Amino acid sequence: MSASPDTVRPDAGQGDPLLAVEDLVVRYDTPQGVVHAVDGVSLTVGRGETLGLVGESGCGKSTLGRAILRLIEPASGRIRLDGEDLSGKSRAALRPIRRKLQMVFQDPFGSLDPRWTVGQLLAEPLHVHGIGRRSERRDRVIDLLARVGLPADAASRHPHEFSGGQRQRIGIARALALSPALVVCDEPVSALDVSVQAQILNLLDDLQRDLGVAFLFISHDLSVVEHIADRVGVMYLGRIVETAPRAVLWRRPLHPYTRALFDAVPRMEPDRPAERRTRAALTGDLPSAFAPPAGCRFHTRCPLAVERCRHEAPSLRAVGDPDHLVACHLAEPPSKTDLA
Ligand code: ADP
Ligand code: MG
Repeated sequence: MSASPDTVRPDAGQGDPLLAVEDLVVRYDTPQGVVHAVDGVSLTVGRGETLGLVGESGCGKSTLGRAILRLIEPASGRIRLDGEDLSGKSRAALRPIRRKLQMVFQDPFGSLDPRWTVGQLLAEPLHVHGIGRRSERRDRVIDLLARVGLPADAASRHPHEFSGGQRQRIGIARALALSPALVVCDEPVSALDVSVQAQILNLLDDLQRDLGVAFLFISHDLSVVEHIADRVGVMYLGRIVETAPRAVLWRRPLHPYTRALFDAVPRMEPDRPAERRTRAALTGDLPSAFAPPAGCRFHTRCPLAVERCRHEAPSLRAVGDPDHLVACHLAEPPSKTDLA
């Protein structure tokens, strides 16, 4: 692993993280030009950990999640799972690794054949990977259904017969079929009612406790991430601008963009007058991903921007807490009076 500062973690002494992404770049070539969707992202996810990834729609969260699974080919950068470098591996070479890495989508069955039964949907990953005999696969399906809180007879029904929350339980069961080490959850509760969201988040928590599975949990909604993440990464226009353990970030968001995100959720406003002075609501639109601003990408919307921010891109650095990394020239550790 490189000495990149955002690979620093509290368990850094306990060997490699489960997932290490280094300087990942993903672009889309379109007739209108090149979209710089992910532009130099480094992050780690520890075993059994949940890293929440937040940011406005269009900042590159899904692209990052899909590139980690190699559903999209990155332009450059490295992805390591369990110490194994996935970059440049062929499809065939990736296959055994795929078992360790799964994905849950906002709409779990958007791309699947609606004629399949739930039992067939859950057995399919086992079948593809040649796991178990028919009867063993049937037992595994029943076990998976129980794990996600669905009755055994759900196996003979079709996804459209279930509610949104139940369908997401089926999507989670399918992702767990191969006992993965990491599941990328891309907005898994964003389409659900708030009460159902809480049930699914609780389910993910229980599954993590019982199975030790790690999650990269993507959401545009800070209040969702607050319920599930151990650590949080904040993304803006293809870059990570701040990462910290959840409690640290909620207590003291340091990047002006993160602060603006918190301000957009009034009930989460921390009551710290010293911080509020530097806060401002997020104004203006997200700049075009075809031509992201030079320097700090947030400078066009930042209430604090100075000349340096317009031409010099800030890199992530520890500010105050060694686990609290911020990509902002102006971020400073808390003063003694702030801590009082
Ligand atoms: P998020 O998940 O944070 O909403 P996305 O990863 O979906 O963001 O998108 C990041 C950027 O890439 C956006 O500017 C989006 O318009 C663009 N984008 C996403 N998918 C494609 C694609 N298939 N072709 C071209 N541009 C894309
Ligand atoms: Mg998305």
